[in-house]
Amino acid sequence: MQRLIRSTFPSLGYLQSSKFSSIPAPKSSPEILYTGIFINNEWHKSIGGKIFLSINPSNEQTIAEVQQGGKEDVEVAVAAARDAFKFGSPWRRMDASKRGQLLYKLADLMERDRIYLASLETLDNGKPYYMSYNVDLPMAISNLRYYAGWADKNHGKVIPMDGDYFVYTRHEPVGVCAQIIPWNFPILMAAWKFGPALATGNTIILKPAQQTSLTALYMAQLTKEAGFPAGVVNVVPGFGDTGAALVEHNNVDKVAFTGSTEVGKKIQQGSGLSNLKRTTLELGGKSPNIILSDTDMNHAVETSHFGLFFNMGQCCCAGSRTFIEDKIYDEFVERSAERAKKRTVGNPFDLTTEHGPQIDKTQFNKIITMIETGKKEGAKLVAGGNGYDGLPGYFIQPTVFADVQDEMTIAREEIFGPVQQLIRFKSLDEVIQRANKTDYGLAAAVFSKDIDKINYLVQGLRAGTVWVNTYNVLSAQAPFGGYKMSGLGRENGEYGLQSYTEVKSVITRIPMKIS
Ligand code: ADP
Repeated sequence: MQRLIRSTFPSLGYLQSSKFSSIPAPKSSPEILYTGIFINNEWHKSIGGKIFLSINPSNEQTIAEVQQGGKEDVEVAVAAARDAFKFGSPWRRMDASKRGQLLYKLADLMERDRIYLASLETLDNGKPYYMSYNVDLPMAISNLRYYAGWADKNHGKVIPMDGDYFVYTRHEPVGVCAQIIPWNFPILMAAWKFGPALATGNTIILKPAQQTSLTALYMAQLTKEAGFPAGVVNVVPGFGDTGAALVEHNNVDKVAFTGSTEVGKKIQQGSGLSNLKRTTLELGGKSPNIILSDTDMNHAVETSHFGLFFNMGQCCCAGSRTFIEDKIYDEFVERSAERAKKRTVGNPFDLTTEHGPQIDKTQFNKIITMIETGKKEGAKLVAGGNGYDGLPGYFIQPTVFADVQDEMTIAREEIFGPVQQLIRFKSLDEVIQRANKTDYGLAAAVFSKDIDKINYLVQGLRAGTVWVNTYNVLSAQAPFGGYKMSGLGRENGEYGLQSYTEVKSVITRIPMKIS
């Protein structure tokens, strides 16, 4: 098992650590404890009496009935978050270091419940358990710990202003934050949103994706156990209309959104049409992954495979346009197809499974349609290309297309599925121009041993992250976000604090003479 994992994920350092050899067995039927609306540290039913179903994508069976938050529930949650943010409230009076301690405690509780949370994530989302356990949970926990450390270190400046004045800046919380997250990394996205918002003293209403509410609801209970005061963290499950009610609400100060570019535009518009709330967006991508002929072929094939197929291709930063230098193109195609055919697809609770189902029927159908479009437009199918007829679950074969041309739909539109596009190029200037010819700009990668060529490409590529000889390496410390229509603002690292604070200048007249 260890050998399999090492060879599959060579680019993620922490997946290669010795810890990885001993994964504790999952709970394949984790008990579902929380399905309500979490407001003021209490569980509530939907005021409108609505529920929706959470479906297991591996077998299409119902896992749970979840309370559906409507406009009225959003009203109650916003009022609770506003109240918790009131000047003089326990949360506003709390020492910054204490906020950090609460975040550390939350991280410890997630560590305590890591097997349970990883199992619940796999049940609800379909991702292989060893990924939930070894990627999603440790990354979420480290993110909370990283921002816990910032809580009492995010200080302002003293500025040498003209005149007889003393000026200092305060970094104050923005206020009530709506956080709307997608289904591809439910725990991790919740942690990315909680960490910086809570470290800087904001209050939160989180809206998980309707496909995957369960782990966020469990995390809500952990925030209570950790000791966050009532109203600081609220979680309202529901669909897009619940998110829209938060976005349009005049008593919400900020919205942080991760999801599609299409919805991101609506969020930006909704924020503008209401109270100009601060908006950060982490949206789609069509990331170029550029392979030069001098590269280590084994490493580049394997890492490019991982760069696309990780999480069943359901990553906003997936390397979905692999540009390969002419000289090595044919060999790269052959080896990428071979690798995709070997990818183990199956029950995500089985520790030898690399590849689970897509999240739901809608995504499944979209991806199959994209594959058909690829075939019709003349791309050459060299691996996969279908679902698994007659089997339950939303499984799609790892699919590879060669001879992909820039103008084809599969080279232009986000697929968000296990479909790799292999594209030929000849020169560096040509590939920079073609790689940038997209409305997106989330990530890019370069594989080469030539430092001059690497640096030239790194400068030319218009993307928020450029990986060199690696892919999909994200961390709490390094900022992440998009150029162009891939987003607005940055998450992670010190940069991630900026969008959760307002800067206040305090200007004091200094007497130059005391009589
Ligand atoms: P995906 O395409 O990955 O499903 P979406 O952008 O559709 O991503 O959804 C991401 C999140 O945004 C989910 O929590 C979803 O419920 C929410 N959402 C969808 N539509 C809207 C909207 N109009 N306003 C606010 N939130 C929305």
